[in-house]
Amino acid sequence: MISNCLKINHAGHLEISGCDTVELAEQYGTPLYVMSEDQIRETCRRYVASFAKNYNGHGKPIYASKAFSCKEIYRIVLSEGLDVEVVSGGELYTALQAGVPSSQIHFQGNNKSTGELTMALENGVGDIVVDNLYELECLEKLAAQRNMTASISFRIKPGIDAHTHEFIRTGQIDSKFGLDLASGEALDALRQAKEMQHIAVKGLHCHIGSQILECAPFVHAAEVMLDFYGKIRNELGMTFEHLNLGGGFGIHYTENDDAIPYENYMEAVSSMVHSKCQELNLELPRIFIEPGRSIVGEAGITLYSVGAIKEIPGVRNYVAIDGGMFDNPRYALYQSAYTCLVANKADKPADYIATIAGKCCESGDLIQEHTPIQKPESGDILAVLSTGAYNYSMASNYNRNLKPACVMVSNGNSRIVIKGETYEDLIRNDV
Ligand SMILES: *Cc1c(COP(=O)(O)O)cnc(C)c1O
Repeated sequence: MISNCLKINHAGHLEISGCDTVELAEQYGTPLYVMSEDQIRETCRRYVASFAKNYNGHGKPIYASKAFSCKEIYRIVLSEGLDVEVVSGGELYTALQAGVPSSQIHFQGNNKSTGELTMALENGVGDIVVDNLYELECLEKLAAQRNMTASISFRIKPGIDAHTHEFIRTGQIDSKFGLDLASGEALDALRQAKEMQHIAVKGLHCHIGSQILECAPFVHAAEVMLDFYGKIRNELGMTFEHLNLGGGFGIHYTENDDAIPYENYMEAVSSMVHSKCQELNLELPRIFIEPGRSIVGEAGITLYSVGAIKEIPGVRNYVAIDGGMFDNPRYALYQSAYTCLVANKADKPADYIATIAGKCCESGDLIQEHTPIQKPESGDILAVLSTGAYNYSMASNYNRNLKPACVMVSNGNSRIVIKGETYEDLIRNDV
């Protein structure tokens, strides 16, 4: 199985953290998001242990919560010693409501509104990651009005060579995120920030992309960022408390994804960080990383009921489910690969080639095309694996479908952490 929390039990059913998925579907209904708390905690512990080993605990992982945001996930990662990253007022609100101390919140985003910046300031957010000069000026003004000092970092585009690593989408110039290094834009922003009365620059930040399956780009990013740090120290005399090297660690969606253990990234990056600090005579800053997908992705699955099956000879076999792009838009958005299986026939051979179709009124509402599953019948339970990241968080009410419930499972026990929506929820804001 592509995830540690999954296995096939004696009944031949798919099991997640000791819970039979067919029973979960019966108890809670479908569609249903199921997340393994055990696996989430285990991944958090691996990252934390890596920080102990590679940096003597001088730094920490930050959970990038856009992958999956709800109160319970904030409580879980907080209890494992992680900080939290948010990218909107809504995520910030949820994290605060879940009891995350504002000093442990990092606020990202390429176009935070005045309202969001004000909310961050007034709640004492520990680290506002400034993306651009316009934002820097807004923040200085807002902080001055309140006679406060904003603690910030700067988002830098390290300009990792996109030709050798095509999967990385943050190109040198053509990216909407961050300040450019090559043109001097980043240096200029730091020079301006240094003169501002209500801005305290605490760190530098970069994030080079997502679902990255090799170490080299991360190591290269660390090198570029530390060289930049050395330049700032020499030219502006500034030093920083932390260096945030972002997230993007790849996971298994299918057996073909060659995801390497997170420990390998941590070690490779750490040795670059240590040798660069030595070379440039920099005091080692606290190191942060921001994993999102890799903390929750493989820990989650989605359960659906199979409805109509349309076999079009010589064309394809449509297997329709009671969910679709409203609970998982990733195939429609980026043709993302997924592993699908019939949960109540998980021990049978996957010798039926299916196109999994959603129930939305769009031909493109598919979860996967031409994928091998066990021969399905109407009423079966279909499981889609590795849906813990960017599924619930990207869900919509298209066609006025209801967002499914999310159940957390641990050691054979299950509990609701997000209730399924009701029709009343849908019209709550209608006038
Ligand atoms: C999305 C994002 C992350 C997390 O990326 P994953 O691929 O989910 O690990 C981290 N940092 C920033 C700034 C992001 O935008």
